[in-house]
Amino acid sequence: MKYCYACGTAMSGNPFYCSSCGRSYDVKLCPRRHANPRFVEVCSQCGSRDLSTPQPKVPFHWKALAFVLRVLLSILIGLVVLGIGLEILRTSVGQVLFLLLLLFVATLTALWFMLPTWFRAVIHWLLKRRGHYNEQRPHSSLKYLPPQEFARTLVEMRA
Ligand SMILES: [Zn+2]
Ligand SMILES: [Zn+2]
Repeated sequence: MKYCYACGTAMSGNPFYCSSCGRSYDVKLCPRRHANPRFVEVCSQCGSRDLSTPQPKVPFHWKALAFVLRVLLSILIGLVVLGIGLEILRTSVGQVLFLLLLLFVATLTALWFMLPTWFRAVIHWLLKRRGHYNEQRPHSSLKYLPPQEFARTLVEMRA
């Protein structure tokens, strides 16, 4: 069975075209019924430009439903935000401060995740470099030893 997303007609079997609106299903068909992908303008097998109109990829009513759902969701979010806002106005100062702190932390977290990856990479690199400076890099003032090694030799010398 094939179902036409354009007009909603269901056809039994495996037809090439919808009998109601004449669209092909998920392919573009030339008059010789060579199947071509949706994006082609010319049949890849015979060169015909007389290609059929395929049915839409997504059913029309699904798109409409998605749109309605998105609008409803926006309204819902708006109402919730408004409700929370009013609730905050009614609560004591301490609770407001707590919520503000929560919001602040959430914003910081969001900012951190929104930062471009390269910026995070630079921070990681800087942190790693500092670690390298203290642990591995030899220093001329410390007998060309890395600071941790030098500290160890001092401890050993004292022992
Ligand atoms: Zn149809
Ligand atoms: Zn063809």
